Amino acid sequence: MSSSHSSSSLAPSARVVSFEEARHLVERHAVGVCPGDVETVDLLAGLGRVLAEGIVADRDFPPFARATRDGYAVQAADLAQVPTRLEVLGEVKAGDWPDPEKCSVGRGQAVGIMTGAPLPAGADAVVMVEYTSLLDKTAGTVEVEIRRSLKSGENFVPRGAEARAGQLLLDRGRRLDHAGIAIAASAGKSRVQVFRKPRVAVLSTGDEVVEIDAAPGAAQIRNSNSYSLAAQVQNAGGEAVRLAIAPDERRRLRQLIEEGLGCDLLLLTGGVSMGKYDLVEQVLGELKADFYFTGAEIQPGRPVVFGTCSKKYFFGLPGNPVSTMVTFELFARPMIAALAGMTPQPLIFLRAQLKSEIRTKTGLKRFLPAVLSGEFENAEVELARWQGSGDIATLARANCYVVIPPERGRIEAGEWVPVLMR
Ligand code: AMP
Ligand code: MG
Repeated sequence: MSSSHSSSSLAPSARVVSFEEARHLVERHAVGVCPGDVETVDLLAGLGRVLAEGIVADRDFPPFARATRDGYAVQAADLAQVPTRLEVLGEVKAGDWPDPEKCSVGRGQAVGIMTGAPLPAGADAVVMVEYTSLLDKTAGTVEVEIRRSLKSGENFVPRGAEARAGQLLLDRGRRLDHAGIAIAASAGKSRVQVFRKPRVAVLSTGDEVVEIDAAPGAAQIRNSNSYSLAAQVQNAGGEAVRLAIAPDERRRLRQLIEEGLGCDLLLLTGGVSMGKYDLVEQVLGELKADFYFTGAEIQPGRPVVFGTCSKKYFFGLPGNPVSTMVTFELFARPMIAALAGMTPQPLIFLRAQLKSEIRTKTGLKRFLPAVLSGEFENAEVELARWQGSGDIATLARANCYVVIPPERGRIEAGEWVPVLMR
């Protein structure tokens, strides 16, 4: 797609789309991107990284028929009538391999067994110790009384029931979390192949913005966006490259944009609104960028921009700190995930019960900072009382966003509303 330029300025013609269309546009582009090289890391260093290899079962899972209860390995048919008595041949602990000579369970026989131990030959069920009583030794034999019948197959997992040797346990493209780490560990993967993290350039713009360790002048503000964005980038599986602050001046802005285009993705903040000094789109236009959208019908974050320039994707995020954070989550995150090699995931909102009524203007889809509370099944949510999209103090105390559809001007307390977790 190419942008059309007016004669007076190189800014793209406006293309404002609905939230869903904007998100789908990003997702469609994200499908086509290639992740970086593959590297091999120690398993724990793979936490949060994206698998570049599938994790394959190196043996059957479980590798033997595994007891899931402490009790007695038996033949279920022996327990058709209860109570009944069985001869106890011996015991198998976890880590023991049952000796087939001594511990094969025949009719009328049982073997004591512990959780995690292999089921001895001949047995087809495990009766829980709670339903048994070990009887006194009589003439050298040990007997157990069993008070509960059971079905063949109860209380053990057959060999290979979870996975067969050679079967795929975890797909390439999965981001490793603790459960993925557990799977890899159980398949003996002390080192895993993961994709290199995509390098994401973060470029803040604005004449009023200064570095965080500088003393700000009366009309200056510290560059919080580069830091919140860098944190979000890391969280999303990328490596943030923070560039110098760009002033609202074409030449230097252009230089820094060109520098940022050396990374896998460029995130700009500020300078995408309608102001006289909002130069980001103009400069990108001069650099022959293609714009896929130049606004989304959302609040906060309406001026958000998405496109490509020099074969790299970029997002122009509005400079208001809350807008920056929200538009990152909604649009930049799936692109970073794709560049990191992750299999695409749809955006899912959870639901919580609204604590107090919301009244708002219609026409835009709203993502309003909110506090999710309640306990267990009682998720409740309430809007944070914020002063608009610059209010990071309130946002820092919030923990989610309430999602309000464009047509809803009023939502009653008690209604279940969609929530975007932060
Ligand atoms: P802009 O999108 O450039 O019009 O900026 C909107 C608002 O966000 C202004 O109040 C800016 O001062 C503020 N802002 C822009 N960039 C940053 C930044 N890097 N860190 C914190 N606030 C910013
Ligand atoms: Mg600005």
